[in-house]
Amino acid sequence: MTCLHGRHTEPVLFRELTGDNWTLADYMTRGGYGQIRRILDGRMPAERIVAEVRAAGLRGRGGAGFPTAVKWGFMPKAHAGQTYLICNADESEPGTFKDRDILRYNPHAVIEGMLIAAYAMGITAGYVYVHGEIWSVYERFEEAIGQAREAGFIGKNLMGSGFDFELHAVHGYGAYICGEETALLESMEGKRGQPRFKPPFPAANGLYGQPTTINNVETLAYVPFIMAMGGNHWAALGREGCPGTKIFSLSGDVVFPGNYEVPLGISFAELLALAGGVKGGRKVKAVIPGGSSSPVLRGETMLRLNMDYDSIAKAGSMLGTGGVIVLDETRCMVKSLLNLSRFYRNESCGQCTPCREGTGWLVKLIERIERGDGKPDDLDLLDSVASNIQGRTICALGDAAAMPIRSFLKCFRQEFEYHVEHKQCPVASGGQA
Ligand code: NAD
Ligand code: SF4
Repeated sequence: MTCLHGRHTEPVLFRELTGDNWTLADYMTRGGYGQIRRILDGRMPAERIVAEVRAAGLRGRGGAGFPTAVKWGFMPKAHAGQTYLICNADESEPGTFKDRDILRYNPHAVIEGMLIAAYAMGITAGYVYVHGEIWSVYERFEEAIGQAREAGFIGKNLMGSGFDFELHAVHGYGAYICGEETALLESMEGKRGQPRFKPPFPAANGLYGQPTTINNVETLAYVPFIMAMGGNHWAALGREGCPGTKIFSLSGDVVFPGNYEVPLGISFAELLALAGGVKGGRKVKAVIPGGSSSPVLRGETMLRLNMDYDSIAKAGSMLGTGGVIVLDETRCMVKSLLNLSRFYRNESCGQCTPCREGTGWLVKLIERIERGDGKPDDLDLLDSVASNIQGRTICALGDAAAMPIRSFLKCFRQEFEYHVEHKQCPVASGGQA
């Protein structure tokens, strides 16, 4: 139960969660489904809902941080065919494990968020695409949908309002690439999960070619709370101009790995302290601040930063999914990079040559350096292969594979050079890098 350390400073989504109070009855005792009821009873204009979400400053929590109200605004106001709302629950970015806890411990917040979003965009059909390696979460969510349907929150003419909304859960089979929104659409259509070219974006051409909005689990789950508190109030929970709260997944060399719901803009040092600090009282050597796709930063840099989109971007990385991986001073940076690079090589869908071939070359080069067979030119070659992948592929996986290489080389080049020159790791041998 990674979300329940009791160390959250400003819990909204995790408030009052004990681990087993996830059912519809529990959610309703916390005021659940009160917002969709208020909206439908009062026939609230869709623009008012979008205005609250805009005032909240809510940004997509799947990694890209795209403003949610803007995304909702892309949906056509009048469309003759079916339109869709999809909740992307295919979370599988290394270091990121927040969405599965939201689905497991607060599934009805996601359902109510979808109902409100669908009403605001005039959508009558929704799907939740759950990652294929978390079966118990998928089953829990199916149960929650069943409870909501039985209580009259899903189906036709909801609460006598004339608004219809059908919702179904579907699952993938564990491929990382199916979390990329257009690969997800292909997978849902029963095809091989391979990304499509964008544009067109799903808002224009999505599921079965129809306009589709795809939002992350955390993004949708915040919507009922934003409606309950008011957008401005929710925004004020964040620090110094950073709106709202955010769930960060902390992993790696911390004392208490887990999910922490905190004000956006909290300092990294505070967040680390909430997770009990670094194991064994050791120093932070490196931090990957926003899931494995975000460039690594040196520990001393991170200790000066706040956890918000702009601060992390200015330092040369991304807040991404908020999956914070902490590496202490005993970690070998070559081995750590090899671990990441193997992941991207294994998960490449193989459609584009630079990604399919390049990710394999990257792994071979790092393996060579790691086992002590590296050549002096290998570091430049690594950088060159990475730069020939970046920006030359259909989807962001190519960039995600290239960026760690370039950032590890930028921040820890001396350690890579030591491996090549001395044929061993400076950390393991006690040498100076
Ligand atoms: P993106 O910036 O291309 O798009 C973000 C969202 O905005 C998409 O939904 C897109 O459809 C929409 N959008 C952007 N411009 C638009 C326009 N002009 N018109 C209509 N819609 C528009 O980013 P992306 O490729 O969807 O996501 C990349 C991010 O995903 C990475 O930065 C990474 O952090 C994250 N990621 C997350 C996971 C995970 O497990 N959660 C896994 C891999 C990557
Ligand atoms: Fe597939 Fe990689 Fe191309 Fe993305 S970048 S479409 S994962 S081959």
